[in-house]
Amino acid sequence: MAKSNKKRKACNYTYTMEEAEIECILDERGGNGKQKTKQQHEYLCAWADGNEEPQWVAAKHLKGTIALEEWEDQEDEEPEIFDPPAILAPKCYSLAQLVQTAKRTSILLGAGISAPILPTFRGQHGLWTKNAHKNTKADAKVSDGLQPTLAHEGLVALEKAGFIHYVATQNYDDLSSRSGFPEHKLSELHGNIFVETCDDCHKVFHRDFEVPKDDSLEHETGRHCEDCGGILRDSIIHFEEDLPEPSLTKAMNKFAESDLIIVVGSSLKVEPAAGLPFSNKHTTTTTRQSSKRDVNTCIVNLQPTGYDSQADLIIHGTCDQVIDAVAKELLGNNWR
Ligand SMILES: [Zn+2]
Repeated sequence: MAKSNKKRKACNYTYTMEEAEIECILDERGGNGKQKTKQQHEYLCAWADGNEEPQWVAAKHLKGTIALEEWEDQEDEEPEIFDPPAILAPKCYSLAQLVQTAKRTSILLGAGISAPILPTFRGQHGLWTKNAHKNTKADAKVSDGLQPTLAHEGLVALEKAGFIHYVATQNYDDLSSRSGFPEHKLSELHGNIFVETCDDCHKVFHRDFEVPKDDSLEHETGRHCEDCGGILRDSIIHFEEDLPEPSLTKAMNKFAESDLIIVVGSSLKVEPAAGLPFSNKHTTTTTRQSSKRDVNTCIVNLQPTGYDSQADLIIHGTCDQVIDAVAKELLGNNWR
């Protein structure tokens, strides 16, 4: 999912604020002339402020910004691979067998699991780009009417049947919680966009609207605790911030206890979450163990990842396809 680039200052362009902050780049164009070089390109920038319309900014003004780096990283992204049905089906069967025989299966979720319903924010067909001439920010929110995907539902069904030990998610879209996955078996590593927490009494408020405030200072949401009046803060983790210690530690411990780890819909680019599935592979996990423990790992993703060489099984299918196939194998065709 798109994460914001707050705190990185960009140039003044036609934007009137003294120090405009770019939320992200939405589109790129070659400029008016022919055969423009990359340095002469222009980029459609969305502002962190959210009230101003996105504007085209020349490349020279964006040099060194995180927004441009991210845009270029995205361009470098590997193309998607789809295993043909004759390959996908036996791979899903193998995964189901691994799940059936594993004592503890833990799962790391990435944006891919929400892809069928969450439009991406950037790129040619991205939500922000399409709405570039409207007041975009409001339109581009992770809509609060979103429903969990087939894959989310499948994970809940598999957990109920005793096949899943723990889930760590890199998504802050709340869809794991909404699907009914038990909270005590879930780490939301990057926060939850619908959750705000009191500074003083630490009460957690689960809202039906997105809580972060644009340009908020230190994650303040602008609201106060209904119990004690303390300042409420959102739980979203930005790129430059560390992951919340309790969620990460719990996930690490649960993954360390697991003998099967499945990555579902993540390209494994954002550390430390990306390394989580592989941190204990083939190493001892408890102090008294002297023999090496064998951990099977499977990656379900449409793109190659930097960890592919360490995985035992790689499935290039959508999360819905793969989780549905595994659920059918283990729970029967009518698992829904
Ligand atoms: Zn409070």
